[in-house]
Amino acid sequence: MTCGKMTRSPNRSCYSKLRFQAILFLLAQRSSMGNDLIQIGNAPSPEGVTSGVVSASNLAPAPALAGDGKTFYLETFGCQMNVHDSEKVAGVMMARGYRPVDSHQDADIILYNTCSIREKAAQKVFSRLGAFRKTKGSDNKIIGVLGCVAQQEGERFFERAPQVSLVCGSASYPQLPDLLAQVESGNRRVMGLDLDTEDCFETEFTRRDNRFRAYLTIIEGCDQRCAFCVVPMTRGPERSRSGSSIIDECHRLVDAGYTEIQILGQIVNAWRDPSPVGWSFAELLARVAEVPGVRRVRFTTSHPRYFTPDIVQAIDSHPALCDQIHLPVQAGSSKVLARMLRGYSREEYLEKIHYIRNAQRAISLSTDIITGFCGETERDFEQTVSLLSEVEYDQVFAFKFSPRPNTAAVDFADTVAEEDKGRRLSVLQEVQRQIQLRRNQALVGETFEVLVEGYQPRLGQAVGRTTSNKVFNFPGEPADIGCYRQVTVTSAGPNSLVGERNDDRRLMIERRNDFGLQVSGRDFAEW
Ligand code: SAM
Repeated sequence: MTCGKMTRSPNRSCYSKLRFQAILFLLAQRSSMGNDLIQIGNAPSPEGVTSGVVSASNLAPAPALAGDGKTFYLETFGCQMNVHDSEKVAGVMMARGYRPVDSHQDADIILYNTCSIREKAAQKVFSRLGAFRKTKGSDNKIIGVLGCVAQQEGERFFERAPQVSLVCGSASYPQLPDLLAQVESGNRRVMGLDLDTEDCFETEFTRRDNRFRAYLTIIEGCDQRCAFCVVPMTRGPERSRSGSSIIDECHRLVDAGYTEIQILGQIVNAWRDPSPVGWSFAELLARVAEVPGVRRVRFTTSHPRYFTPDIVQAIDSHPALCDQIHLPVQAGSSKVLARMLRGYSREEYLEKIHYIRNAQRAISLSTDIITGFCGETERDFEQTVSLLSEVEYDQVFAFKFSPRPNTAAVDFADTVAEEDKGRRLSVLQEVQRQIQLRRNQALVGETFEVLVEGYQPRLGQAVGRTTSNKVFNFPGEPADIGCYRQVTVTSAGPNSLVGERNDDRRLMIERRNDFGLQVSGRDFAEW
């Protein structure tokens, strides 16, 4: 056995060398990150801006800042990709000299980053704009609508909401500085709606709002044509970033204090390295996990069609890859899946689940489900319920089918009544609640590493997440925020775990250190 592979019973000289290196690593962590065991993230700056890759204070002074201290307010609806797009849009605004504010009343420019995945989500921006129209003194403000609803409505937005001056879909974000320049020069109907692009939105500066988890988009757009989904029409064709630019960003995130990275893409596992290096998605995961200082890597959303065994092998061989996979199934009936144009059957999906369940580590599984898709019978729905019992997911995101413009399903005649969609949704949620309760209660007595993300003073409780993405509450203190803690489960509900700290226990959890060697969790605990 070589030193590099040694984990549980190293010979003495290897063990001391390894321990010495682990101590050096931890000293480096301490000196660069403060006094606690592992302190992550950065405190928000006085402006309320977290300095992940950029903050107001570390922006290089840009020549002739067009914003010149004017203010902007940016509100985001929808998925994590939208949240991260907004972080980048905020970076673009700040690089132009604009200052973020927390309310639209205080803003010179108001931006809404919108979601149109379901009708309800799409309506939110119109209700915001409606209320805004009534606000006195809003005449001098510039209002921009970004994202999926902007792309979907296009020029019609100016008719529907004349107070809007900028309409920009996500595929045009690389042109945002030019579009803003037009708005700044007084143009009141500025549009960025071109979907024919090969560019990804890479910014020089990104404002990071999450102190603990850094989002990193690796692939934009979507080339699937699921019958229910509006995304390919609103986000444009698939385009992957190069592996080297992704790894460079990971290094910058670690330098900024992050230890947890969440890799994003509409179909994240469709990523292919466009550079001659040609990494696969599984190779990319391994490379990200090997970046010194990266301790947790998550990725979402995976499509079952591209879910290959090498992804599970990468998780098995890289402890920094989290024990968590989100694999949307959408329905349990092969007939409905075919109608949805998902590209897999129930049986093929279950094969992928089989690889995951055979991993060396227990991997938590979550999924998305749509109830009441066109043509779904009671018998089809029962198959979705039986799939839940067969897979035993740790979390399910379920939605009633909502017909979307420009999708294949909008023309399907065999629609399901709203009442049936809603009833099926409730049945499904109750079945899943029982599964989660049982699965979580089976964890009582086990100890997990928790990255603490918050503290509730009223309850004296710290709250964080396990690598499997379970929410964990335990008696703690504000100083726990940003630290990794060992916590033992004492009780559990369907949506979270409750426990107590157990940092002294000698856990033999393998962790990578900075030198690519393996050390046991006990080294971290003793140190
Ligand atoms: N790109 C991912 C994929 O194809 O698996 C999904 C991303 S989408 C933002 C998140 C979820 O919204 C989907 O997995 C699906 O369950 C749900 N969804 C999408 N379109 C929908 C629609 N028209 N009605 C209801 N739910 C929908």
